[in-house]
Amino acid sequence: MDLSRKDFLRRAGLGALGLGAAFASSRLFGQETGTAATEVIDGERVLKATAVPQSGARLISQGPGFGRRIALTFDDGPHPTRTPKAMELLKERNIYSTFFQIGQNVSYHPEISAAVLAAGHEIGNHSLTHPILSKLPEERVAYELQRTQDLIGEATGFSPVWFRPPYGAFNLKAQGALAASRGLGVTLWSVDPNDWKEPGVDVIVQRILSETRPGSVILCHDIHGQTIDALPRILDGLLERGFEFTTISGFLGAPYGTPGALPAGISPAAPLAPGIPAGEPATKDPAAAPKAVPA
Ligand SMILES: [Zn+2]
Repeated sequence: MDLSRKDFLRRAGLGALGLGAAFASSRLFGQETGTAATEVIDGERVLKATAVPQSGARLISQGPGFGRRIALTFDDGPHPTRTPKAMELLKERNIYSTFFQIGQNVSYHPEISAAVLAAGHEIGNHSLTHPILSKLPEERVAYELQRTQDLIGEATGFSPVWFRPPYGAFNLKAQGALAASRGLGVTLWSVDPNDWKEPGVDVIVQRILSETRPGSVILCHDIHGQTIDALPRILDGLLERGFEFTTISGFLGAPYGTPGALPAGISPAAPLAPGIPAGEPATKDPAAAPKAVPA
């Protein structure tokens, strides 16, 4: 499947907005999100939302704060049964989400990734093996990003334009160019129900409904049973509050203007060297790994 720009924009929910230059404007972007609190990621003080910092990589943790739009995102899939169930619940309500997928899991379930994209959702890059990227050498981070781009591309024909670092751990200053040189913007989140800790369905629902604001980017995981069980109440509760769901690209388009574009001054990434670079966790190339259900 080859996605034209028009298809991309439709998928990103931007068709009716004519790309919405205002949404893509870095000035507005900074205005809407630049005042957000800072947070410390692996010892680096990183603005929660920064338009094109020194490394060239664009970082977002929320969308524009006007209107009622929000982005619901699902990390760590695809899962063989829970991702399809999430998609079913979304489809019943005509809601589009963004799925940040782990490359290794895409290699186990490429048909589910393809179904996610075919259903109109956006797919983002969530690394190959879910390591703490900020602790890894450059070659390994490049490998984690590029192999995942390749696996998602092979499974779906789509090249992600947004990347979410596992645990939010990414050294934007030192590693940002590794994302930017692949046309990837960096997405964090602004609402975190900690659903992966399985605190109970009621708690997950309550946290999301009480914390969501216009522009929120909500972090969920489509590999956990409690999250899926909570989903009908989350979706209906947010709809009842008048929120409108969009994808990450629905907020801001592609991070650097058009899908595949790079920020000014950043060269395209060099091809990966042969072999798997060192770095924890040491893994085999997932293409050669046995099929497995992710934990
Ligand atoms: Zn994750």
